Amino acid sequence: EYKLIKGFTVEFPNDTVHTLESNDHIHVEQDATAAAGLNGDAHPERPFPPTTPVDNERIAQLAAKPLHTLTLADLVRHGRPPLNTASLLSSANFSLSLIPIRLAHRIQALRNLPFIVVSNPHIAKIYNNYMHSLSTLLPYSNRSIQTLEEEIQFTEVMADLVQTHSNTIPTMARGLLESRRYIAPDIVTRFLDEHLRARIGTRLIAEQHIALHLSSQCHDTSKIFSAADPGATSHIGVIDTALRPADIVRQCESFVGEICELKYGVRPTVVINGEPETRIAHVPTHLEYILTELLKNAFRATVEQGQEREPIEVTIAADRPLTNVSPIAGQPLTQTKDEVTSDSARVQVDSSTPGVTIRIRDRGGGISPVAYPNIWAYSFTTFNDDEVPSSPSSPPAAVTMSSRNGNSDALNAISGSGGDTSSLAGLGYGLPLGRAYAEHFGGGIWVQSLWGWGTDVYLKVRGLRDVEEKH
Ligand code: ADP
Ligand code: MG
Repeated sequence: EYKLIKGFTVEFPNDTVHTLESNDHIHVEQDATAAAGLNGDAHPERPFPPTTPVDNERIAQLAAKPLHTLTLADLVRHGRPPLNTASLLSSANFSLSLIPIRLAHRIQALRNLPFIVVSNPHIAKIYNNYMHSLSTLLPYSNRSIQTLEEEIQFTEVMADLVQTHSNTIPTMARGLLESRRYIAPDIVTRFLDEHLRARIGTRLIAEQHIALHLSSQCHDTSKIFSAADPGATSHIGVIDTALRPADIVRQCESFVGEICELKYGVRPTVVINGEPETRIAHVPTHLEYILTELLKNAFRATVEQGQEREPIEVTIAADRPLTNVSPIAGQPLTQTKDEVTSDSARVQVDSSTPGVTIRIRDRGGGISPVAYPNIWAYSFTTFNDDEVPSSPSSPPAAVTMSSRNGNSDALNAISGSGGDTSSLAGLGYGLPLGRAYAEHFGGGIWVQSLWGWGTDVYLKVRGLRDVEEKH
């Protein structure tokens, strides 16, 4: 335990100096000491992958490089059949050209947080994970991956990366909640939003390389990618070029229905209407995440209002081609077909109908005008695990805002069942993180509440063509 005195400065390895705002005691854990050190080997017991110590100069060099704007087309490019050694090597080198830079940017952002926040054991753990992952990639820096043997090792490095960072969200949420005294809420929001959005892209690059590697080996990848069926001809790695959103809605309905029934003893039904046959090119796991979160919210509201006999209505509407719309002066209408070749089949992706809008309508009483302005804030929740479902006539649950008023609900939710996906609500990350996933490839989420009646959520998902990752 160190007593830190106001005005005392702490030198941090990236040459920044933090001046403490108030007198405080902090307990510097082993993790934090490692965080402040240079080598973040978080898993010394692991024999593989080999690591190279990370020095500050290298991080600074990498972090100075611009981030590449990732497109779905980038991810598909290396997966065009026939998947041979050359395409695997180009996929590996493409991933290698992007991921170290992305990790270095994240490390810099973590270092720019106040020292006392990075000293929090949970944040330090995340920092160490980034240092570890970068150290596993540095053996490949300054050279390209040229043999299949190197590619196999690199794929293991990618698998280690995906695995190491799999539990980031509850860890980060806990660390930031514990540090909330030391950091302004808007700085937390900005940091978290940037971090989680960057993480989506980095994981996607790694997962895509792993999926391409596995499909070239004809291994059973279903264990890794539950939503994907890489054996299907419409798949290019983790992207399904003929994804049917209605199928994902049904999958998520059954998963969310089960946890809802476990918690409340009842589950509402879901009616799908509109154009359920619509198909888009997208990443099934992303759509799965978003729809799970939106359905959890709709299920919870419906049951808490005692409205479970009112079905939740999911309307699927394909984006219309522009032909029937009067053109905006001076802007020509272009319609082209984007051809994607997948396995033996040639899949045509009609770029004039690149996306889909899904409306989820519930009769769960809507969102109170007090809660509404906060629903996009990370950690904002009105969920209280002790609560019993309200009777139809009782007023909506009181608003708790864990990150601002010191209420520990969200902390309890993280340490209890709420930190994983098997809880119906409580982390307060569903809407903001769902929107981050939707916006990642140019879509979005909009929420309309009719207070006292119900909520309409619009989810727009873009397809393959001309879609760029948003930073
Ligand atoms: P969580 O579900 O963990 O509370 P979310 O980010 O998913 O976090 O949602 C934040 C808050 O927005 C919820 O706690 C709830 O108050 C409100 N909310 C979201 N969707 C709905 C809905 N369909 N009906 C009523 N309230 C909703
Ligand atoms: Mg939720």
